[in-house]
Amino acid sequence: MIFKLARRAATVAGLVAATTAAAWAQTYPTRPITVVVPFSAGGPTDTVTRLVAEVMSKELGQQVVVENVGGAGGTLGAARVAKAAPDGYTILLHHIGMATSATLYRKLPYDTLNAFEYVGLVTEVPMTLVGRANLEATDLKSLIDYVKANKEKVTYANAGIGAASHLCGMLFQSAVETQVTTVPYKGTGPAMTDLLGGQVDIMCDQTTNTTNQIKGGKIKAYATTSPARLAALPDVPTAAEAGLKGFEVGIWHGVYAPKGTPKDILDKLTAALQKALADENVKARFAELGTVPSTAEEATGPALKTKLESEITRWEPVIKAAGVYAD
Ligand code: ASP
Repeated sequence: MIFKLARRAATVAGLVAATTAAAWAQTYPTRPITVVVPFSAGGPTDTVTRLVAEVMSKELGQQVVVENVGGAGGTLGAARVAKAAPDGYTILLHHIGMATSATLYRKLPYDTLNAFEYVGLVTEVPMTLVGRANLEATDLKSLIDYVKANKEKVTYANAGIGAASHLCGMLFQSAVETQVTTVPYKGTGPAMTDLLGGQVDIMCDQTTNTTNQIKGGKIKAYATTSPARLAALPDVPTAAEAGLKGFEVGIWHGVYAPKGTPKDILDKLTAALQKALADENVKARFAELGTVPSTAEEATGPALKTKLESEITRWEPVIKAAGVYAD
């Protein structure tokens, strides 16, 4: 009897909770939404997020506020969202690092495949290998010679282990079989400031952050990591064209929410994301920066989940072969 009563009470409590969740999911959002960027302001992930967030704010009728939580290659920001309330008011915009960190870190403060719900893919972005303006190497071949001859003093900027700039640098160093000194930042926004100032020598970063600086002659561009030349940077050769095979990497971004976020809320976020990616101004800005917006089919939860899973599988053997790990 007592057991039956307890079970009925639990069922009623469950129903009340479900009804309440459905009710607030219907009126969602009633206050500003925080989108965590796991890197510093002014970098490529930040730029993509701010462009998308502006349109999402209009669509959702509430401000989508960007919060930069940089550090540890993006894993600090991801952890912040993994632990947030699953109410749709704290979401994450992260890149390929969500997949590579799963192997790069021996221990993460979240379970990559079980701590999040999926909102959708956002972009595909190629990378560029760049150097400070007064670096003596003028093309990729002379850069490789320079790096090999000066490996004790060459410095490589990145946004920490797990960042796209880390992955790209790791692939470059293994392709040229030379290790240089890494200088980690909380994002490639501040890393770019130091590259412009000549405090670091080289970096590999997304076109979102490098296109304008390359076009303005403020940094040297040695190669893109794409299979073909980019419309935004037609004069920059691909790494393969410049003689370096097997140095290809494409960055993708996705939007996540904490595990347990109700489906109605995820659907609203997905619809707002799709609207943002179809917006003419966003498309034009992305095109200028060599950034490709995801299609409406890609900007869905299931497409992001599939991408994340396949990218974890794809990068795991590469990272293990390189033997790079963080604790
Ligand atoms: N996306 C950059 C990277 O992974 C970091 C950033 O967005 O600032 O290196």
